[in-house]
Amino acid sequence: MTEPLVQLYDTTLRDGMQQEGMSVSVEEKVRIAHKLDELGIHFIEGGFPASNPKEVEFFRRMEREHLRGAELVAFGMTRRKGVAAAADENLRVLAEVFTPTVAIVGKTWGLHLSKVLRVSREENLRIIDESVRFLVEQGKRVVYDAEHFFDAWRDDAAYARRCAAAAADAGAAVICLCDTNGASLPGFVAGVTGEIAACLPVAVGVHIHNDSDCAVAASLMAVDAGARHVQGTMNGYGERCGNANLVSVIPALQLKMGLPVLAAEQLERLSETAHFVADICNVAIWAHEPYVGKAAFAHKGGLHVAAVEHAPQTFEHIDPAAVGNEQRILVSELSGKGAVLRRAHDIGLELAADDARVGALLKRLKDREHHGYHYEAADASFDLLLREELAPHEPLFRLESFRVIVEKREDGKAVVEATLKVHVGGERVISTAEGNGPVNALDTALRQAIVSKYPHLAEIELVNYKVRILDENKGTGAVTRVLLDASDGEDVWGSIGVSENVVEASWEALVDSIEYGMVRSQGR
Ligand SMILES: [Zn+2]
Repeated sequence: MTEPLVQLYDTTLRDGMQQEGMSVSVEEKVRIAHKLDELGIHFIEGGFPASNPKEVEFFRRMEREHLRGAELVAFGMTRRKGVAAAADENLRVLAEVFTPTVAIVGKTWGLHLSKVLRVSREENLRIIDESVRFLVEQGKRVVYDAEHFFDAWRDDAAYARRCAAAAADAGAAVICLCDTNGASLPGFVAGVTGEIAACLPVAVGVHIHNDSDCAVAASLMAVDAGARHVQGTMNGYGERCGNANLVSVIPALQLKMGLPVLAAEQLERLSETAHFVADICNVAIWAHEPYVGKAAFAHKGGLHVAAVEHAPQTFEHIDPAAVGNEQRILVSELSGKGAVLRRAHDIGLELAADDARVGALLKRLKDREHHGYHYEAADASFDLLLREELAPHEPLFRLESFRVIVEKREDGKAVVEATLKVHVGGERVISTAEGNGPVNALDTALRQAIVSKYPHLAEIELVNYKVRILDENKGTGAVTRVLLDASDGEDVWGSIGVSENVVEASWEALVDSIEYGMVRSQGR
């Protein structure tokens, strides 16, 4: 890739996962990495490839995956005190990992050196120097994260400067100044970054936490002051108050600061990417989230609407289409049309823009979204909906009825039994199965019923199941949304079900995931 004006460095998979309650599987991490790659992120920090079996497995998986433009980065830390760099286990892992770029974090702040690490300032400089030098000698491109850099600067600027210089002299390609505690305000960050950028011969970056609610602003001002590398996460995920939100940083760089960090068509995928990651992480995106929130370009009230219809810039700071979002006034027949046409094209259905079926489909989509359906991470269900409208096919089976019984026993065990009556290939089949939960029991019963007709089904496996209650505060009428991921060992696809009843929502998602798997296997 040609060197971008500003490197976008995403750490959702590492720092973002520090957020309370955040947990994604290896498979989901792989999907997120691909999505970030499609968006055009330059570097994807994946974690430390030896911290736990999940991370090991992730790096093992990623070694076989092809990324179009992004580079995966392994993350670790400087050598421990009293150990030679070449003998330090963690550094050796980084030296041996397949990624050409690695990031290591090291100390800068005297407070941490004396109170936590108990090493002298001179020893810390040697630790930085030897750690970076070792990895560079091993052929790695090193991003050096100077932890607590801004706190260190407030404490002793001369020493902070020496730490950054030590990493640069040892051959680091990027010196990333971290506001680890998120304490600093934008003006201060910009001033310090400018000074460091002016005196170091290598690229300077920033990694800003959001404890002062200034992470995006500080990151942008740092770039203005000379930073050429920005770290952050999707939707600002991260511990405590999160990291700099790349979803806001990217369009600001591109559309407002004249720094084209992505291709225009990549930037148009920003909203989709933000919602995809949110859905995978099972976190709702705030409707009023800048750039990508549902309400970011929504208008109500007569005067506003009239003005926006006449000249959108009257109440819109950017063209929403530039970030893949859309203006919302009323249910507009035009909005979303492009997305439907593109998706239809992707699955081999060519359509004219004025085809009446497109309008009907859009109406149905809006209606379903209103009921709680969300298709960003449910590509399989979306495709099936498209096919249903545009190229109807014979369903795999017809459901007559199902029944799920949950039995809680005296010994504490809960047993679930599902009975299913379906019509498949002109035959009526009754199938019963036990499972550890309703989805599992229904899945097993359904497979039993139809697998002889569809042997490929045996290769499809459910890999993930997520439930969210929508409209919790409504009390009655609360709706359950189920997201299900299935895989045939090669690809993973997502499906969705929505109902007031969790079992029914699960069933809907289950049928979609299996149906889509079969449609896929029959070729497009
Ligand atoms: Zn951090």
